[in-house]
Amino acid sequence: MFDRYKTHLDQILSEIDSAGLYKHERIIVSPQGAAIRVSDGKEVLNFCANNYLGLSNHPELKAAAAEALELHGYGMSSVRFICGTQDLHKQLEKKIAGYFGTDDAILYAACFDANGGVFEPLLTDEDAVISDELNHASIIDGIRLCKAKRYRYANANMEDLERHLILAQEQRFRLIVTDGVFSMDGNVAPMDKIYKLAQKYDALIMIDESHSAGVVGESGRGVTELFDLRGKIEIITGTLGKAFGGAIGGFTTGKQEIIDLLRQRSRPYLFSNSIPPMVAAAGIRMFQMIESSNDLQDKLHLNTKYFLSKMKAAGFDIKPTESAICAVMLYDAKIAQEYAARMLDEGIYVIGFFYPVVPQGQARIRVQISAAHTTEQLDKCVKAFIKVGKSLKVI
Ligand SMILES: *Cc1c(COP(=O)(O)O)cnc(C)c1O
Repeated sequence: MFDRYKTHLDQILSEIDSAGLYKHERIIVSPQGAAIRVSDGKEVLNFCANNYLGLSNHPELKAAAAEALELHGYGMSSVRFICGTQDLHKQLEKKIAGYFGTDDAILYAACFDANGGVFEPLLTDEDAVISDELNHASIIDGIRLCKAKRYRYANANMEDLERHLILAQEQRFRLIVTDGVFSMDGNVAPMDKIYKLAQKYDALIMIDESHSAGVVGESGRGVTELFDLRGKIEIITGTLGKAFGGAIGGFTTGKQEIIDLLRQRSRPYLFSNSIPPMVAAAGIRMFQMIESSNDLQDKLHLNTKYFLSKMKAAGFDIKPTESAICAVMLYDAKIAQEYAARMLDEGIYVIGFFYPVVPQGQARIRVQISAAHTTEQLDKCVKAFIKVGKSLKVI
C-alpha cells in the first residue's frame, strides 16, 4: 500500500532538500539559556531563542512548577469545561487580564490555538477580517477557518489598510488583525494609526502580542503600552512560550463578552486538553515577578540598545527595530547561510533567513537579544559578527 505513496513523499522531500530549504534540527543537551550546550558537547552563546526575559530556566519558575507538580498533580486529562479547570487556571487567566489591562482571558494549549480558535466563533459570512500580509501563520490559518470576507493589506501600510477598510464597509462588522511585532524585521505595527483608522471606519482590532509581550513598552506590556492603548483594544492574543517563561500555552484576552463567547464556542478550547498545573503555576509566578520589578524588562532594553549601537558603529545594516529582534541585512541567501555557519564556528548561534521566509533579495541574520545576555556575551557576539563580516567582505 505504502510503496507508491513513499515514492511520492521521497520526491517532495528531495525537492525541499535540493532547494536548500530542508530544516535540520540542532540538538541541545542543556537547559535553554544565554549559553547552551549542543550535542557535540560544544558550548555556544544563544542568540536565536525567544527567551527575551531570560526566564526559560529561571529558578523561581522551576520552584513554582515543582510545587504545583506536588500539590496539583502532573496532568488534567480533560478539557476545561468537563473537569480540566483548577484554581490555578483561573488565577493565571486573571493574571493575564491584569497584566494587559483587559476584562478577562482564556487559556489555550498554545497561541497557535488561540489564533486558530478566535475568528470562527466571532465572525460570520456577513463580516470582514482585514489582515496584515505578514501576520503569523496561525492567524492566517485561523482566518481560513471562518467564513468572513478576507482582506489583506501590505505590511504596516496605512494607505492600503484604509483602502481595504473602505471596501469592507459593505460588511456588518470589520476586524483589523495585526501582529504587535513582526518577527522577521522586528518592527512594531503602527497601532496609533491603526486605532485612528478603526475609529474612522468602525472596525474592531485584534493584536497578536506574541513577540511584543514582555518586550515592548516601558514595562513590557506590549504594543498597547507603547501606543498608550491599554484597555482600548477588543482582542489581544499571546503566548506563554516566548518571553513569558518559554514553556507552552497561549491566551486570548480582551472584552468580557468576547472571552465569554470564546469559552462557549472556540473549538481548540472546547476540544483540546487543559495546560498542565505546573505550567499554570509557573505562569502565575512569572507575572508576579515581572509585575513586582521592572529589572528584566530594563535589562532587555539596555541590552538591545547596546547591541544595536555596537553593530551600527561597526557598519552593519540593521532593519529599524523597536523590539528585541535585530535583523542584520545581508541581502544574499548564500552569504546569509555561510555567515551563520561561520558564526557558529565562533561560538555564536544565530540563524540566517532567506527566501521564501523573507522576500527575495532580503536575506539576513536575525539576532534575538535576551535579558539573560551579559555585556561580555554581547561583546563576544559583536566581535564574531565583525570577524566574519570582514572575512566575507560584508563590512
Ligand atoms: C510564536 C507565535 C505564535 C505561536 O505561539 P505558540 O504559543 O508557540 O503556538 C503565534 N503568533 C505569533 C505572532 C508568534 O510569534
